[in-house]
Amino acid sequence: MSFIEVKNKKGTAGKKPPDGYTSWLDFWEKKKGKKATTCEVKGCDGSPDVGGHVIKVGEGGKEYILPMCYDCNNKPEEEVFEAWESDLVPVKD
Ligand SMILES: [Zn+2]
Repeated sequence: MSFIEVKNKKGTAGKKPPDGYTSWLDFWEKKKGKKATTCEVKGCDGSPDVGGHVIKVGEGGKEYILPMCYDCNNKPEEEVFEAWESDLVPVKD
């Protein structure tokens, strides 16, 4: 396991999760088969308020879901932060 650099993807607030999921956090939990217990941004121990849309730095536009607190989810799009790569759940397989 290793940390990877990610950034928030903006303009995703209106994106609905796929059928069968009540929220993006629910999507993440069902895909991972476990409950989110904390904000998964490295160095943050906030609560997992939302399933945030992030992209990997240098990868292009592919979106992933990461449990995040509201503060981390509101980081500006330019701000790079780190998360465990294994905590990123792709929006599209
Ligand atoms: Zn956080």
